[in-house]
Amino acid sequence: MTTLLFDSHSHIQMSQFDDDRDATIRRARDAGLVGQLVLGTDVASSISAIELATAEPDVYAAAGCHPHDAKDMDEASLDKLAQLAEDPHVAVVGEIGLDFYRNLSPHDVQIDILNRQLELAGRVSKPVALHGREAHQALFPFVEAWSRRMGGRLPDGRRLGVMHYFDGDLELGRRYADLGFFISIHCSVTYPNAGALSEVAAELPLDVLLVETDSPYGPPQAHRGERNEPAYLEEAVVKIAQLRGEKTERVAETTTANALRLLGVTGGAQPALEPAGAAEERSAP
Ligand SMILES: [Zn+2]
Repeated sequence: MTTLLFDSHSHIQMSQFDDDRDATIRRARDAGLVGQLVLGTDVASSISAIELATAEPDVYAAAGCHPHDAKDMDEASLDKLAQLAEDPHVAVVGEIGLDFYRNLSPHDVQIDILNRQLELAGRVSKPVALHGREAHQALFPFVEAWSRRMGGRLPDGRRLGVMHYFDGDLELGRRYADLGFFISIHCSVTYPNAGALSEVAAELPLDVLLVETDSPYGPPQAHRGERNEPAYLEEAVVKIAQLRGEKTERVAETTTANALRLLGVTGGAQPALEPAGAAEERSAP
């Protein structure tokens, strides 16, 4: 069994896990996960993600508003998100982006909320997790402009974020990577009809790849029809390794190291995301 995996995108704070959230986290550990990033989609789910990250040493939180929920944001909820983004357990601003497939919020509202959260991430110097579905033509220029304003990196040299559940082709993947983003390969790469995603997973340099389940959505092939959960991540890593002609361990270790670097933690089960004061306390005589 692989011993080092990191799920860069899950939503285990959602109600689908209300009956077995603790067991889900245990199964993830048993499956070799050293951590997972739990993403908010609105204020309430961002707060739940932070609560989980506070309680569990290998859970990291992202706070943000999903494009589906953009229509429900007002100034007060944007202020609240800005406050949450400062929380030391929040490693990432997300998930944010544009979704012109389901169109649950008007496009102009999605774009406004996206840009305000990109600015927020810049202010707090944290990376972003981006969602783009049938919207890359609109999304790319905003991301490119923000990348340019940021100088292509966070102030501490880290990459600017991750393109989650990437659904574009290899050329677009390269362009996002060049802007300073990781490309996250979702476990749908295991489907027989994975299409362009197979080429993206096979051809992009390993040092820009992350892997994710997007739990509870989109289980890998062996679990189609079930609720997805982080413990199923290894199937995707095995498939990516096959596509690349590399050892599973190498894909697992590198994508895990990439995720920990993005989050600004050094690795292992203990997060180094405490406020500066906590670190000082520890090193005091
Ligand atoms: Zn998501």
